[in-house]
Amino acid sequence: MKQGRADAIEQLIQLPEKQAGDFEQTAQFAAQLACEQLGAETASVWLFSENQTHLNPVCRSQSAGRTIVDAPLSVTALPDYFHHLHRHRFLKADVARLHPATKAFAPGYLVPNGIHAMLDAGIRINGHLEGVVCIESLRPRQWSAEDAHWVGQLADQLALAMATQRQSSQAGQLDLFRHAMDQSNQRLAIIDADSLEIRYINQAYLRLAGGTVDDYIDKPVQQLMMFQQNPEHARMALEEVLETGFCRGEAQVVNPRGQIRWVDFKVNRFVTESNQAYLVLYSDDITAERAHKAELEHLAWRCALTGLYNRAYFLNRLREQTPAALLLLDLDGFKPLNDLHGHAVGDRILKEVARRLHHCAERLGASLVARIGADEFVVRFDVEPAMTLEALAEVLKERVAVPVRIGARAYPVFLSVAGVCRSLLNDSVEPMAALDLAMAQSKLKGRTQLFDHALRDHFCEQVQIQQDLRKALTRKEFELHYQPLIELSTGQVRGAEALLRWRHPQQGQLGPARFIEIAESSGAIEPIGRWVLETALYQLHLWQRKKPDLEMHVNVSAKQLLGGDLYEICWNQLNRYRLTPGTLVLEITETSLLEEIQVVSRLCNQLGELGIVLAIDDFGTGYSSMRYLQRLPVGKLKIDRSFVMDLEHSKENREIVPAIIAMGQALDLVVTAEGVETTAQRDFLVRCGCDMVQGFLFGRPVDQHQFESEYLTLTERV
Ligand code: C2E
Ligand code: MG
Ligand code: MG
Repeated sequence: MKQGRADAIEQLIQLPEKQAGDFEQTAQFAAQLACEQLGAETASVWLFSENQTHLNPVCRSQSAGRTIVDAPLSVTALPDYFHHLHRHRFLKADVARLHPATKAFAPGYLVPNGIHAMLDAGIRINGHLEGVVCIESLRPRQWSAEDAHWVGQLADQLALAMATQRQSSQAGQLDLFRHAMDQSNQRLAIIDADSLEIRYINQAYLRLAGGTVDDYIDKPVQQLMMFQQNPEHARMALEEVLETGFCRGEAQVVNPRGQIRWVDFKVNRFVTESNQAYLVLYSDDITAERAHKAELEHLAWRCALTGLYNRAYFLNRLREQTPAALLLLDLDGFKPLNDLHGHAVGDRILKEVARRLHHCAERLGASLVARIGADEFVVRFDVEPAMTLEALAEVLKERVAVPVRIGARAYPVFLSVAGVCRSLLNDSVEPMAALDLAMAQSKLKGRTQLFDHALRDHFCEQVQIQQDLRKALTRKEFELHYQPLIELSTGQVRGAEALLRWRHPQQGQLGPARFIEIAESSGAIEPIGRWVLETALYQLHLWQRKKPDLEMHVNVSAKQLLGGDLYEICWNQLNRYRLTPGTLVLEITETSLLEEIQVVSRLCNQLGELGIVLAIDDFGTGYSSMRYLQRLPVGKLKIDRSFVMDLEHSKENREIVPAIIAMGQALDLVVTAEGVETTAQRDFLVRCGCDMVQGFLFGRPVDQHQFESEYLTLTERV
């Protein structure tokens, strides 16, 4: 080799840009050297694209005046050229436009640029073709073996420059990753999946676990904190990741400062290109999140006053799983106590009751105690309790229903308790419905009541009735019976009370006591009430043709008074039939009046303006006060049957009944006595000056035909 060429290669080897892995600068320098050393007009360096589809220009050195512009070369467009390069170290084309590997360049490149000869050498790393050095001459040339060898050396130096560049960029990247991983707040560890030795651990991990990198690197995985503190959990997680390639979980650990921290961790298995399997562990400190979550849950699921679980939580759990047993405890007389002594006292009592209940129930094996209403608590048992539910209820009652001392005063605590066992529940009986029913019984009887078979049968019957009620109207199963109302002084029939009957397809005729309440609670009362009014008024309209002053008493339920369109129905019917004013009497029970006196009183006044008379039914059984009687446009009172029934035996009733009659007269009300069955009762009522009577003595409720034939022709009944 000529000395010049050897020096040139040496110059290239020593080039600082080459040593630093700057490929482009090195290539530029190499191209220039090639032109000089080989006396060529131009030399260029090319590299393959990453996907090997194109050869891209890196640089070109050309003699003055030359302006070759390079563009990427498609590998598929020049198969012969690339084929040659892959197979040979050089491509010597003395007459390039005729050479089989380069002739394809002739029309677009060689001819227009006046290129005659080409000498190319591949740039290879580990035998893999990465690019090409191209020397081109405008003159005819016969490239010597020496020329080709020298270009080969040039190409090797370029390959070295490129390898250096790649390596340094890889090392740089590795360094970058290491820094990034050490900066991360997430804890990271890499474990060799075969030897189970730790290969990497980041700073965040050390901050949590303490120690230095040397305490971990190349040490067995058992050195990790998780294995030190939760060996069983860690072992299972490791097994899982080795088997499935992934696992995650949460664990509690104690840091070197003795603080308890919660961490979550994820472990992934991965395999490197060299087929080495590793596990990468990421973990985060979730102590703050957990505390926040717990706080939110506490707010959402706990009762702020007592700290017990609240209704929402209890119901949620109930939906998830039916417990073995439930007890419902209700404080008796809490509302009046609260009203009387103030909320501060009420709250203290509730807190104390909750505390006792929680304490005691826990000892009895309860899994949950919740406050589900103002003064209602439940105790849930997930495991069959050792004692019978009744015995449990008694123990709780004994411990909880003890007076609460506040200051100098002791406030008595009374509890009603109801219970239900899982064995008595089924798809149609919900635990809460069962408890409510048992509680109603408990309050009624004044003792603990369990939901038993009798209650369940009753419950199922109610449910059945509720379902059947929905179809009863359309199937025309309802009927009105009419009971005569007699004027005591004359013995004349003055009116009729319309009483609802249901011809139940299976159960036969049912009286209102069997279904009115259910209809009220299920909302069915509105359409039924409308039907009753319309039917009774139509009947009255027919009967008034014979007896124009005949009255019709229709029972109206509280729900109709408070919610429905009672006024509208009455208005329509009265207009339609042109009934004698004052002959429609609506019977309202006392209790329904009390509920919302404001609303009721407005409606009653409007009804009064339509000429409708209001009667208070079952008078004496509720809490009517004189004030209500004065405020409402009431025209009639009906003394409840219970007072009349006992007249002969009860001295008390013999005093109450005349008192009610006297009061009614003083208020200018027409007084009717209900349930008159004997002549003795009748005579007593005559003596008291009672206006009207109703009862089996005068006539039972009968259907419209019988009523017509018996009472609208015969008037003298006394
Ligand atoms: P109420 O309005 O007090 O009706 C009188 C009830 O006493 C009727 O019972 C009647 O059959 C019964 N009765 C009348 N005289 C005697 C007697 O001498 N001895 C005895 N032992 N009982 C007598 P019924 O028909 O079973 O109705 C019960 C209750 O159902 C009614 O009491 C009323 O509050 C309600 N009710 C009846 N029909 C309707 C209705 O269409 N709508 C609404 N909302 N409630 C109704
Ligand atoms: Mg009535
Ligand atoms: Mg009554």
